[in-house]
Amino acid sequence: MELNKCSRCGAFHANESDVCPKCAGKDILELSTFKTYIAENGVTSVDTIATQTGITQKNVNRFIDYQGIEVSEEQKENLSNSGVVLN
Ligand SMILES: [Zn+2]
Repeated sequence: MELNKCSRCGAFHANESDVCPKCAGKDILELSTFKTYIAENGVTSVDTIATQTGITQKNVNRFIDYQGIEVSEEQKENLSNSGVVLN
């Protein structure tokens, strides 16, 4: 049996998904929160989404990957610059 490493807590597990059974419930809940946010606000930036939804930036990035969300060049700029304040 092949073990996967949980993307949330790092524990090894035999689940098909990339999170362990312990984290699966929370992951589904956050993914649904994420989808609702995107539906209402569109893809803003990882930083903004994380702040507004309470989901960690790491998980926001994962959910964006899951969804195969098309991110425009401008949004990519926002994503990579998120959290960076000049001056
Ligand atoms: Zn886990």
